[in-house]
Amino acid sequence: MSDGSGSRPPQRQPEQVRWAELLPRELRLRRAACPIAWLPLGLCEPHGYVAAFGLDTIKADWLCDEGARRFGGVVAPTQGWHIHETGYHARWLEEVIGEDEAEIGTLPPDILLRTFLYQLRALANAGFRGVIAVTGHAGGNQVDLRRLAAAFSARVPLAVEVYADPELVSGRYDGDHAGKFEISQLLAIRPDLVDLSRPPRGDGPGAGSRFALGGDAAEATADHGRIILEAQLASLGESVRRMSASLAGAAVTRVSLSKAEEIWASFASEPLPLVTANPLPGQPPVSATSKWKPGERWAGPGIDSAGQRP
Ligand SMILES: [Zn+2]
Repeated sequence: MSDGSGSRPPQRQPEQVRWAELLPRELRLRRAACPIAWLPLGLCEPHGYVAAFGLDTIKADWLCDEGARRFGGVVAPTQGWHIHETGYHARWLEEVIGEDEAEIGTLPPDILLRTFLYQLRALANAGFRGVIAVTGHAGGNQVDLRRLAAAFSARVPLAVEVYADPELVSGRYDGDHAGKFEISQLLAIRPDLVDLSRPPRGDGPGAGSRFALGGDAAEATADHGRIILEAQLASLGESVRRMSASLAGAAVTRVSLSKAEEIWASFASEPLPLVTANPLPGQPPVSATSKWKPGERWAGPGIDSAGQRP
């Protein structure tokens, strides 16, 4: 009797597109065919009691992996920690989590932005001429990422485009937080990580909030998620075509550590405030007694809450 393994057809492996999983010859072939690196950004944060914490990371990973398979390029290691808790996040957390426990993979703005700067440096030095960064964590951080990317591209011949994933379908679908939009995306990618049969509110001590679950999450379906994801991929395909046309002739020069620091110093001295360090215009203040209050106006090393060096 056969144990069955001999008669099974060989599993078809998906095309390898991850820097971490490519052999040197494979990476160089892919880069020669399309010198674009994909950079997924996300984090772990509450998405209700019905969905996994890593929703933002999972969708960014999927969009970048699938984008590289369809349009070319190489997927860089995922940035799985992100800006949270500071600026506009503080009031949002008070509203959707309250003072409950919340497991969040938070980095302050300067750590994430400096990391992003050095990721761009590493990608330029690894021979890529363009970067498409997709952040599954939306809300305003993409504005700071884009400003830093522009500061980098002004000094280094590396084309960089940054998208929060809802921006890829703006005007067609409204992004949300753990609502119909996001939960549908996760249902399409990883249905095993969603359980809509769970009550929207927690049942443990202090778990009185909906843990950031969107009001229309119950309307989420995998089919709707697939439609959103396909529309996002089509938009990314346009970005690759546009970027590819602009890459010809770009000079390859190694970006030194000191040059990266120069770019950071210049970025940090720009008079524009960081979006992620301050409340949004018109956003109500965080209650004085809230544990989220200290993040509301953030000033960190090398950069103050107005975006200027202290
Ligand atoms: Zn999310």
